[in-house]
Amino acid sequence: MQINRPSELLRLRIALIIGAVLVLGFMIADLMLLPSNMYQLYIFDRLLLQLPIILFVVAVSFWRRFIQYRAFIFAGLVIALSYSNYWLIWVCWDEHSFIFPYEGTILYAFFCVFALGIPFKLAIAANVINILGFLGLMWIAPVYGDRVLISVAFVSGSLFICAYARYRLDRSVRMLKETNERLLKLSKYDPLSDLLNRRAFREQSEKLLALSKRHNVSMAVLMLDLDDFKKYNDSFGHQQGDEAIKVQARIMKEVFKRETDILGRYGGEEFIVVLSDINKEQVEKHAKALLDKWREAKLKHAEGAKYPLMSCSIGVAYAKSVDDISIDWIIDEADKALYKAKEKGKAQFVLKEAQC
Ligand code: GH3
Ligand code: MG
Ligand code: MG
Repeated sequence: MQINRPSELLRLRIALIIGAVLVLGFMIADLMLLPSNMYQLYIFDRLLLQLPIILFVVAVSFWRRFIQYRAFIFAGLVIALSYSNYWLIWVCWDEHSFIFPYEGTILYAFFCVFALGIPFKLAIAANVINILGFLGLMWIAPVYGDRVLISVAFVSGSLFICAYARYRLDRSVRMLKETNERLLKLSKYDPLSDLLNRRAFREQSEKLLALSKRHNVSMAVLMLDLDDFKKYNDSFGHQQGDEAIKVQARIMKEVFKRETDILGRYGGEEFIVVLSDINKEQVEKHAKALLDKWREAKLKHAEGAKYPLMSCSIGVAYAKSVDDISIDWIIDEADKALYKAKEKGKAQFVLKEAQC
C-alpha cells in the first residue's frame, strides 16, 4: 500500500520530537535522584549523546530517501540510545559505584518499535543486539549485584515481548490489508469472468471519458454478445455455458492489453470494452481480432445454432471527438450497432461512427 509521504513524515518527526521531550522530562526526574557529583556525567550523556542522536535522525528525515530507509534508521536509533544508556550505567557504577536504573532501555525499545514503527524482523534484530549489550554490561559490570540475573531476565523478557507484540500487530495489519484487497476486488470484479462488473466499469469509463475530453482524444465502445447462447446453454448445460463466458473474457484480455483499456461484463452474456485515444482502423482491427480468436477457439456450438462454432457479434461506436458525448449515449450507439450485427447474420461486427 502506498503511504502518504508528507503526513507520514510529519507524524514521524513529531514522534521524534516527543521522544526528545520525554528524554528531557526524564532528565529532570533523574537529576532529583542522582548525587550532584554525577550531574556532569549524566547531563553529558543526555544532552550531548542522546539528544543529538535524536536530533540527527530528525535532520536525516529531510533526506529524500528517508521514508525508504526509515526502519533501518530507527533500528539504529534504538541501538544507539540503548548503548548510550549502557555506557551511563557502566560509568555511574565504575566511577561512582552508583546503581543507575535500566528501565530506560525498555522504554526506548517500546517507543522506537511502536511510536516510530520498526517492523518485526528489524525489531527482533535490534532487540537481540540490545539484549547482548545488556548481557555484556552485566558481565563486565555486575551493577545490580544479586539482582543481576533478574535484571537480565527482565530486560530480555521485556524486549522479547516488545518484538512479539510488533509481530502480532504486523500480522493483524497484513491480514486486514489482504481482506481489504479481497473485498475491493469482489466489489469491482465479476467472479466468473474476472472482468469489471457493471458498476465498476461505469465508474472507470466515466473517468476515461473525462480524461478523453480533457485531452481531446477519440473514444470507442465495443459491445459484445455471444451468438445463440441460449441454445448453447440448453444443449450443453449452464456450467458449460459458464466456460464459454470465460473464453469470451480470455479473448478480450488477449486483444485489449493497454493499461487504459476498460473491459467489463455488462450483463449475462454481454460484454463491453471502452477504448480511448485510438483511430478507427485500429478499432476495426481489434474487432476482427476478437472474431478471429473465437474462430480459433473452435468451440462446438449447439445443434440448431446459426453457426457450427461458438461466435460473438460486436457493435462498435466510434467517436472521433468526445466533446459533447456522454457514456450512456455512446453505449447506446454501440448497442444499436450490435443489434445491426445480429440482424445482418451474427458472428460479425458493425461499426457506427458516433456523432452527436
Ligand atoms: P442472440 O444470438 O440473439 O444473442 O441469442 P442468445 O440466445 O444469445 O440471446 P438470449 O438473450 O436469448 O439468451 C441469452 C442467454 O444467456 C440466456 C441466459 O440463460 C444466458 N446467460 C446469461 N447469463 C449467464 C451466465 O452467467 N451463465 C450462463 N451459462 N448463461 C447465462
Ligand atoms: Mg444478450
Ligand atoms: Mg446472445
